[in-house]
Amino acid sequence: MEEPRFIVDTMLGNVARWLRILGYDTLYKKDYKDWEILSIAEEEKRVIVTRDHSLHRKAINRGCKSIYLSHDDMAERLAWIAYVVGIRLYVDLEKSRCPICNGDLRKTGKNEVKDRVPDRVYQLYSDFWVCKRCGKVYWLGSHWVKIEDILEKARAMLEEYKTRKYALGGVMSGGTRPSSRDKF
Ligand SMILES: [Zn+2]
Repeated sequence: MEEPRFIVDTMLGNVARWLRILGYDTLYKKDYKDWEILSIAEEEKRVIVTRDHSLHRKAINRGCKSIYLSHDDMAERLAWIAYVVGIRLYVDLEKSRCPICNGDLRKTGKNEVKDRVPDRVYQLYSDFWVCKRCGKVYWLGSHWVKIEDILEKARAMLEEYKTRKYALGGVMSGGTRPSSRDKF
């Protein structure tokens, strides 16, 4: 099955970064206009992710696929996207993209990054990844634990959503959706 590709509205930059870490081709710009998002989504068959209800309505009316996110919590947001379009909720580093620019990453050894990371990091870690587009270097630093925590929570929420069987027809047209006010 072809992997979904996304375009994310201007209010959801952190969602864009997460989708890239999870390995999904995701476009995001701080100054996108609604019409740009709609036309790119239409042309490139991308799923719109938005917390702007009027943009969501416009997208649905034009026949674009759109996910309306009302949640503030990142785990809930990711679980909801997973529920609607089936993204994986674990990191596959072979697929991860640069959270900053959406470029592909390639794995590299210590030597190549010696002058580009702090000494302490160079000593502590042996696996590094470099963005093929912007050159930024990544490693599985202390933030990694937090990423795993959020994904674990998201996976649990996804199971809840499946149990509750929210109607996706309603979701995609802006109808029924769970919110943080719903008690599980
Ligand atoms: Zn990059």
